Amino acid sequence: MSELGSLGFLAIACACTGLLWVLWRWYAVPMGTLAYVDDITGYANRRLLLRHLKKRRHQWRKAPGFCAVMVVDLDNFKQVRPAQGYAWGGRLLQQVAHRMQSVLQSGDFLAREDGDCFVVVPQARWSDHGQASQAMWQQANQLQDVLRTPFVLDGQEIYLSACIGITVVDAQADASIDVLMQALAALSQAKAQGRNKVCFFDEQERQSLQNKVGLQTDLRHVLERQQLQLYFQPQVNIAGHVMGAEVLLRWTHPERGMVPPLDFISLAEESGFILRLGQWVLDQSCAQLKAWDAHPVLGGLQLSVNVSARQFLQPGFVDMVRSCVEKHQIVPNSLMLELTESVMLEYGDEVIKTMHGLRTLGVGLSLDDFGTGYSSFTHLSRLPLNQIKVDKMFMHGVEQGGHNSVIVQTLIHMAHNLGLEVVAEGVETTLQRDYLHGKQCSLYQGYLFSKPVSLEAFEALVLAQTPHNESVAL
Ligand code: C2E
Ligand code: MG
Ligand code: MG
Repeated sequence: MSELGSLGFLAIACACTGLLWVLWRWYAVPMGTLAYVDDITGYANRRLLLRHLKKRRHQWRKAPGFCAVMVVDLDNFKQVRPAQGYAWGGRLLQQVAHRMQSVLQSGDFLAREDGDCFVVVPQARWSDHGQASQAMWQQANQLQDVLRTPFVLDGQEIYLSACIGITVVDAQADASIDVLMQALAALSQAKAQGRNKVCFFDEQERQSLQNKVGLQTDLRHVLERQQLQLYFQPQVNIAGHVMGAEVLLRWTHPERGMVPPLDFISLAEESGFILRLGQWVLDQSCAQLKAWDAHPVLGGLQLSVNVSARQFLQPGFVDMVRSCVEKHQIVPNSLMLELTESVMLEYGDEVIKTMHGLRTLGVGLSLDDFGTGYSSFTHLSRLPLNQIKVDKMFMHGVEQGGHNSVIVQTLIHMAHNLGLEVVAEGVETTLQRDYLHGKQCSLYQGYLFSKPVSLEAFEALVLAQTPHNESVAL
C-alpha cells in the first residue's frame, strides 16, 4: 500500500512538472520575447536596441573600421495623431516602420526608440570615415524620400517628413563613446534647422570642445605646478647688437608637451585667469631684469612684455606695475609693455589715461602687431607710445617692391614722423633685413637672428656676441 502510495505521489509530481514546463513554454518564453518587442510596430523596442548596441560595440572592437548609428524622427507626427486617436497613430507608425525597413540593407537593425523616433544600426562597416558618411548620407536621403511619399490610412492621405541625426564612429578608437547620445545630439541639431534635415554629429567640434575644456582646467594649475617658462626672443639693432628681448610664454604640459601661447592665452583671457598669469609674467620679467642689473653685458638689456586687453583694462593696473617695479627695484625704462591695436581702438579715453599713468612711471609702451588694426595717423598721434612693432605678416616679400613694401615704408615713415622707434617683427631673411635697414628701421626681431629661446640659451647668445659674430650681427 505504501509502495502504491509513493508511486502515485511520483506520478502526480511528474504530471505537475510537465504541466509547469508546458505553461512556461506557452507563456513565459513569449512574455520574455515580448519584453523586447515594440507592441505598436512589432520591431525592436528601446530595451532590445540597448542590448543590440552593447553586442554590436563588442563586435566593432574586434576589427578596425568605421560604424554608424542613425536616429530618424518624424517632424509632424505629434500634430497629426491627436485628431485621429492612439490606435490610428499606432497603425501609421507601423506603416512608417515597414517603409523604413523596405529601404534598409539586410542585417541592418531597426528599433522604435520612443514615440515617433526610430533608430537604425547598419550592419555595414566602412574602411574610412568619408566612405561611412557618404553611405549614411545616401541612406538618410532614401529614408526621407520613402517617408515623404504620402501614407494612406482609412482612405485618407497623410504627409510626413523626418529629421535624421547620424554619428559615424571609429569602431576601435571610440569604443567608450555613447553612440546613441551622439546620434540624438545630431538629431537635435537637425531639428533646430527645421523640417526634413539631416545632420552628422560633429566629431571635430566635440573634440575641440573637449580639448578646450581640458586645457582650461589644466591651465588653472600651471603656476603651482611650475609648468610655465619665460622664453626670450632677441631684438637686435642696426649694428647687430642684442638690445633686449621679447618675453614669450611657454607652457610645458605633462601630456601634450609644449603648448603654444596662441592655444592658451585666449583661453586664459576667456576665463579671467590671464590676470594672474599676466601678473606672474610681469613679476618674473622684473625679477629677471633685476638679476641682470649688475652684469656688465646683460645689465643694459630691455625686456618687452605682452599685456593682454583684459589685463590692461583691469582697475589698478598702473598700481600693479608700479609695485612690481618698486618690489624688484628695476630701472623703469628697462621694461617695455606691448599692447595691441584693438585695445586702444576699442576702449578709447580710459586706455589713454592708463597709458599716461604708465608713462609717468617711466615704463615704455609699444604698439604690437602694428598694421593689423585700423589705427589712423590722428589716432596714433594721441597715444603716448614709445615704439611700434610692424607685424610679421608684412615681411613676406617686403623686399620685392609689392604691396608689403609700400605698407611697411608708410608705417615706418608714419612712426618716424611721430618720433616713435620702429621694430620689425618676423624678419627671416637677409633680404628682408637689408630692405628694412635701408628704410631706417631701428630694431629687428625674427628667426634670422634667433627663435624664442630659454633663459640659459638667451644669456649664452648675448654673451657670445661680438661685432664679428654673424649669428647676431647685421
Ligand atoms: P606676439 O607678441 O606678436 O609675438 C611674436 C610671435 O611671433 C611669437 O609667437 C614669436 O615666436 C613669433 N615669431 C617671432 N619671429 C618670427 C619669425 O621670424 N617668423 C615667424 N613665423 N614667427 C616669428 P609665439 O611665441 O607663438 O607667441 C604668439 C603670441 O602669443 C604673441 O604674439 C603674443 O600675442 C602672445 N603671447 C605670448 N606670450 C604672452 C604673454 O606672456 N602674455 C600675453 N598676454 N600674450 C602672450
Ligand atoms: Mg608681442
Ligand atoms: Mg607681435
